[in-house]
Amino acid sequence: MPAPEDQSTASTASHDATQPTAEETTSRPGAAVDSVAADVAEPDGTPAGAAGDLPAGPKRVAVIVAHPDDAEFLCAGTVARWASEGNDVSYVLLTSGDKGSSDPAVTPEQLVATREAEQRTACDVLGVGALVFLRRSDATLVPDLDLRRDIVRVIRQLRPDVVICQDPTVRWVDQSYLNHPDHRAAGEATLDAVYPAARDRMTFPELLAEGLEPHKVREVYLGGAKEPDVWVDITETIEAKLASLRAHASQMGDWDPEEMVRGWARDEAARNPAGGEYAESYKYFKLD
Ligand SMILES: [Zn+2]
Repeated sequence: MPAPEDQSTASTASHDATQPTAEETTSRPGAAVDSVAADVAEPDGTPAGAAGDLPAGPKRVAVIVAHPDDAEFLCAGTVARWASEGNDVSYVLLTSGDKGSSDPAVTPEQLVATREAEQRTACDVLGVGALVFLRRSDATLVPDLDLRRDIVRVIRQLRPDVVICQDPTVRWVDQSYLNHPDHRAAGEATLDAVYPAARDRMTFPELLAEGLEPHKVREVYLGGAKEPDVWVDITETIEAKLASLRAHASQMGDWDPEEMVRGWARDEAARNPAGGEYAESYKYFKLD
């Protein structure tokens, strides 16, 4: 089904994610953050450039994922590119990865401090502004109403035009990878927060009592999607992606992610109708 058209225009004002003005919190439907990617998502038969005619930004983008380093694997090239193009990118980490070590000398508290610092370094490499930690327990994330409410709260605070999150339908990949349950839970809770809870006035009235008005997210990109339908060219930002991954030193150890990550990005570029040497892929939604 074609994405809806409209006549809105993008704001060219810069903004602070923590202090949006009333004008900036007004939804701007149709203002695709990445018009080339949105064009790719148009079904056959749509006039060429239909989505490309939409204003391209600047937009507020929120990346909402389960663990430190998830976003770097999923979408760091896209994040670096969109940030460099003037979009305001924030990260929301649902856990701080407090189970992500087999070292018996490391406590969960120490690991949280290490991994949050690594995530901040990665964000600095990519040009990400706000970094929010919800500090849910790693490895036991459940997409319940409490988690949904917490994500709605942060969506209403950050007021993103665009959300990038994980694909909750990916249970496994090939015969070698069982998707982490936290990744599925994060995707499920985030999609349920985007629609309908963040936009509906009477859902979670306690948030309204906190002064948090409803907010409509206009675009959703599912990273690591089972059935991707858009590709973002990251040829210019693959180095930033690699640098951001290396910032997660506690997880990389002696392993250098370069060969594997370049291989994945080349494979995605080969599927990208717009070409390019490296790409990241997504399942794309443009919401009314
Ligand atoms: Zn993860």
